[in-house]
Amino acid sequence: MLKIENLVVKVLEKTILENFNLEIHSGEIHALMGQNGAGKSTITKVLLRDTNYEVSKGKLILDDKDLLQMNTTDVARCGVFLISQNPVEIKGVTNAEMLRTSLIDQGKNELNILEFNRKMISYCEKLGIPKDFIHRDINYNMSGGEKKKMELLHLWMLEPKFIILDEIDSGLDVDSLKLVANSLKEYYELYKPSILIITHQKALVDILKPNYVHILNQKKIEVTGDINLAEKIFKEGFSGASIIDKSDKGE
Ligand code: ADP
Ligand code: MG
Repeated sequence: MLKIENLVVKVLEKTILENFNLEIHSGEIHALMGQNGAGKSTITKVLLRDTNYEVSKGKLILDDKDLLQMNTTDVARCGVFLISQNPVEIKGVTNAEMLRTSLIDQGKNELNILEFNRKMISYCEKLGIPKDFIHRDINYNMSGGEKKKMELLHLWMLEPKFIILDEIDSGLDVDSLKLVANSLKEYYELYKPSILIITHQKALVDILKPNYVHILNQKKIEVTGDINLAEKIFKEGFSGASIIDKSDKGE
């Protein structure tokens, strides 16, 4: 279980999140929505312990472990996996090299090279990724959509149990978006991970069907509801749905 309690996050002395609270139990899917610049990506960076984001108050606990005492590698070793809004390009390291090294780090030394290749090729076929991408540098010179699919391939190979998806939809065409959403659903049904999904896309919400939908506004989660809250926002917008104004007045 992830427990975020009264978190205060600053970047360059500016407070981005204040009194931010969120609990995600094992196997739950939570959607986080909010206007541009609300701080959605900030919370993903904090979870993965990006040191540009200073936590000045609060708690960040995953399964009784204090994430605030960990670095990014330790957090990843706990099975936390982020597909970030803008995946980084890593020149000089191929996808195959990174994945094999990560699997060995996870203690999966028994995976022989033939089995590893067979697995990679089958995921490439499923996700519509050219097979030669396996031996290309991570995300280097790839299109926005290709990067998102490659990150999804990493996810399938590494089998994380806590997944954070920051606008995985951006850069994907309509068909790719459906393919990616259905692939995530298949992964969820197979492994039952916890998922925190940040999106503005109805198709993704409709396919993944989050258990809870949260609206981030005024530096914290201001409103929590079910999938109907997301549907209302898709129809009327954040201000159109008066969700943010209403709760400001405590109604
Ligand atoms: P969202 O993902 O909800 O659109 P972000 O979390 O990316 O919003 O950003 C929240 C606010 O924090 C924005 O005003 C953004 O400019 C600022 N911010 C985020 N990261 C940094 C950073 N590394 N340096 C400076 N400002 C940042
Ligand atoms: Mg963002």
